[in-house]
Amino acid sequence: MQIRIEPLADESPVVLPDQLGFGRVPTRRILTCRYEAGRGWADAEIGPRQHFVLDPAAQIFHCGQGIFEGTKAYLRPDGRINLFRPDANAARFNRSAERMAMPNFPEADFVTAIETLVALEHAWTPRTDAASLYIRPVMIAAEPTLEVRSSREYIFYIVLTPTGPFFAGGFEPVAVRVEEHHVRAAPGGTGEAKTIGNYAASLYATEAARVAGYQQVLWLDAVERRFVEEAGAMNVAFVYGGKEIVTPALSGSILPGITRDSLLRLAPDLGYAVREARLDIDEVIADIESGRITEVFCMGTAAVVAPIGRIGRHGRDVIVADGRSGPVATRLHRTLTDIQYGRA
Ligand SMILES: *Cc1c(COP(=O)(O)O)cnc(C)c1O
Repeated sequence: MQIRIEPLADESPVVLPDQLGFGRVPTRRILTCRYEAGRGWADAEIGPRQHFVLDPAAQIFHCGQGIFEGTKAYLRPDGRINLFRPDANAARFNRSAERMAMPNFPEADFVTAIETLVALEHAWTPRTDAASLYIRPVMIAAEPTLEVRSSREYIFYIVLTPTGPFFAGGFEPVAVRVEEHHVRAAPGGTGEAKTIGNYAASLYATEAARVAGYQQVLWLDAVERRFVEEAGAMNVAFVYGGKEIVTPALSGSILPGITRDSLLRLAPDLGYAVREARLDIDEVIADIESGRITEVFCMGTAAVVAPIGRIGRHGRDVIVADGRSGPVATRLHRTLTDIQYGRA
């Protein structure tokens, strides 16, 4: 892939704000690439980040035909920059594209696009501990038509944003509420694809959980409302007896996380058994109460591992062990971030 590189008007030194938050600070450049049916992908370009000009009828606005990815660049102790498994994001991006009837984006080009943009914008990679440069590749349907069908025009783009440490105040457990009425994803639906509409569909229940004093929703399966699927926009795992890590088996309505996959591969090297299973919420709650489950945690690119300390269900809370972050989540978090930051 040939990427045209346009000069920037602003070449002044990069100064990062003290408070980065998540996704609020844009870098100066954007990578864009355009697709038209019959011609394929063309016009790959990195230039100054600017607004898109889209017709109000562009299909992204009416059909929601859009997919995205999320990965990060990490500053290593030697001053160079690490990416973590961007090939896995490339492969998942194309599985999402297929599900949403969108064109394939060549996987090698996807990785080259990230590498080229990050190399140009490396000064935006935060130097502070546990911070990183978040990478957001997106594909949207751009053809102006109100017809309900797959678009013939697309824009692929990548934007970057320096992000602060997910756990600013230490490795603090989160509280989740089991969602009884709404579902995130159904079998045969789009839950396995990283499509923008999945997030829109999750907002109502998430906001309601926040008002009730929880940070996230614990999603159950759509058919029986019984089996645990995900926690917020992250995968979830349960530790039995401090030794065995059990996570919901990919059911067709669970997003196959790259963090989940990485931790499942890493955990046996650290002496933990791993198992993918159907996890009944009644049994999970009983096992937390009896102490068989010693830890619960979420897995995803943003936090890597986030311990869950409290689970609300039917108006009642159960506390996981002593409600604090446990040794397995702590060790997994440290081991995987050591790899991501090039310390191991
Ligand atoms: C992106 C995402 C995840 C986590 O995937 P990672 O590749 O680990 O970041 C989990 N669940 C949902 C719904 C997601 O969108």
